[in-house]
Amino acid sequence: MKTIQLDGSQGEGGGQILRTALSLSMITGQPFAIERIRAGRKRPGLLRQHLTAVQAAAEICGAEVQGASLGSTSLRFVPGRIRGGDYRFAIGTAGSCTLVLQTLLPALCFADAPSSLQISGGTHNPDAPPADFLMRSWLPLVRRMGVEMDIELLRHGFYPAGGGAVRASVAPVKAWQPLHLNSRGDLRCLRAIGVVAGLPAEIAKREMQRAASQLGPLDESLRVLPANEGPGNVLMIELDYPEVTELFCCCGERGLPAEKVADRAAHEARLFRDSEAVVGEHLADQLLLPMALAGGGSFTTHLASSHLKTNAEVIGRFLPVAVELIEEGKKFLVKVGG
Ligand code: AMP
Repeated sequence: MKTIQLDGSQGEGGGQILRTALSLSMITGQPFAIERIRAGRKRPGLLRQHLTAVQAAAEICGAEVQGASLGSTSLRFVPGRIRGGDYRFAIGTAGSCTLVLQTLLPALCFADAPSSLQISGGTHNPDAPPADFLMRSWLPLVRRMGVEMDIELLRHGFYPAGGGAVRASVAPVKAWQPLHLNSRGDLRCLRAIGVVAGLPAEIAKREMQRAASQLGPLDESLRVLPANEGPGNVLMIELDYPEVTELFCCCGERGLPAEKVADRAAHEARLFRDSEAVVGEHLADQLLLPMALAGGGSFTTHLASSHLKTNAEVIGRFLPVAVELIEEGKKFLVKVGG
């Protein structure tokens, strides 16, 4: 089979190009070679998270791989047959467990048997989906496409210590179903989830109060974790609609006041709430792959990110599925396939 040549510096130039290529190479059996991996990032090349995704993908489908080492900026991946089973992978740093999970789960939908998958590393990282987002926002929509999948957060892990873990189970998909999200419906619940580990609970309380001052009355849910899971802090704002649950977050950082953390998460939540879009920026780029596998789908989003556009291009290199982006006033209609 012909090797698909990819340029890791295209568009967004991040790890998603590699991860989408890994998923689709496993599923379609097409080998790929990628150059300039993560050229758009401050520290280009394979970090622990990306290397774990490569090694895990290779183990699951018995792939032949060249260039799988830390810092490598090129890779060749020749996939074999996907095997269901019980797998465990450790990132070894606070690299994102959820991004590794999202690389492997689509492929395991095409395995010969049910699988379970446990990944250890970071679960609530900046610039990656928090585990709560995967469970509350992404998973319910993927299930509506015919996928039998569960995701569980076993232990929180924050930068820089890591030490978190997520577990997933997935069965081979019997019948994929396209998913069309036409409207989100009326807001049912607005919730702030303040999480602290090894830090005063006061921090999360201040964040939730500040979020309420920005967004109006909301349910508050305080999660105080054992100190040895920290130090860590994250504020998540969940908007629950009949058709979709969106979740926006900001991770606490040393030197960043709790009020600033809250303002950042609240700003994203408000942009989405004030729009008429069905899904937010991040969910948008993460729905493309399952919708392409399901043979179709559509949704509206208020922000057409470069992650979204780049992911659409990479998907188009592996699957005969077109992704259309149509501007409709203040939102974009995204159509996947047919
Ligand atoms: P990359 O930067 O190419 O490694 O890709 C990062 C992925 O994480 C993309 O799919 C982003 O949409 C996703 N992501 C980043 N931040 C968030 C967030 N706060 N919530 C959900 N997903 C996120």
